[in-house]
Amino acid sequence: MPARILDGLRIRDEIFAELKTEIGRLHGQGIRPGLAAVLVGENPASQLYVKSKIAACEQLGMASWLHTPPSNITTEYMLQLVGDLNADDNVDGILIQLPLPSQIDAKRVLEAVDPAKDVDGFHPVSMGMLVSNRAGLVACTPAGCMELLRRNHIPVEGVNAVVVGRSDIVGKPMALLLLHANATVAICHSKTRDIAGVIRGADILVAAIGKAGYVQADWIKPGAAVIDVGTNKVSDPAEAAKLLRNFPERMEKFRAKGNVLVGDVHPDAVQVAGALSPVPGGVGPMTITMLMSNTVKAARLRRAGAAAVARS
Ligand code: NAP
Repeated sequence: MPARILDGLRIRDEIFAELKTEIGRLHGQGIRPGLAAVLVGENPASQLYVKSKIAACEQLGMASWLHTPPSNITTEYMLQLVGDLNADDNVDGILIQLPLPSQIDAKRVLEAVDPAKDVDGFHPVSMGMLVSNRAGLVACTPAGCMELLRRNHIPVEGVNAVVVGRSDIVGKPMALLLLHANATVAICHSKTRDIAGVIRGADILVAAIGKAGYVQADWIKPGAAVIDVGTNKVSDPAEAAKLLRNFPERMEKFRAKGNVLVGDVHPDAVQVAGALSPVPGGVGPMTITMLMSNTVKAARLRRAGAAAVARS
């Protein structure tokens, strides 16, 4: 039987409905949660991402500001801008769209963001809060993966979870979230021996590698829940034919468009897994959703408490 599809768009709509209610409550206290996005230069992919983040703010009735400095600006300029956004009480979340041009010290800029406004969850303080399992702002993609599991009632406690990939923005925080939810967690990376053997033991598999169809269907434990974080654009016809050999309709679309988006898990896994997040339409929509959720959370933690104290 094919896997149950973990539909990110459905969960996004569910969370957006909840956020609208909470935003309405905050409006009642005179607070309009707001996200400031900084987009340096004219990278078309980044422009598209930022546009959809601003559109999501508008859809939810949140404030948003878009700063678009040119690609030749300096680290000092960025530090000044971040400082201004830190000081602006209307700004609850600061998003620095990556990648930044190479002359900018991205680490210094990200570390200058006030941790209370770190809605991407990349700041070392946010990471430290996560390591010690304290309430804070968690990186959006792994937080979204957890929501996909939780809202699809996939049990995490006590199960064997394998995370493939150990990046600071996906793999590491993902492993910590699973650990805090009481899974037994293994992390694989490019130096892992017998990666297929480790993956075969996974009741929950999260793949965040960046290699199209890398995890083979016969590595997956029958019935496992598979969260595919990878988003890889495949434009080579031979590679597409290999990946989509059992998906004639998707292959047809590839021929028409010249490329196709494929995850890190081979599409054939749908015949083995018990549940599977599709690419596209699985983890992708969850990342923006959790950015919105983090911005509302940041507003609540930073401002709603203060409003209550001021009223009392
Ligand atoms: P990254 O920073 O490049 O990290 C990739 C990780 O995969 C590294 O830890 C690397 O190991 C590991 N890896 C690479 N090749 C491997 C192999 N053959 N076997 C085992 N491990 C291997 O990537 P990332 O930022 O975490 O992103 C991963 C994927 O998720 C990408 O496709 C990205 O586009 C996608 N992504 C999607 C979303 C979304 O919203 N849907 C968000 C973020 C990322 P080493 O550490 O040993 O090098």
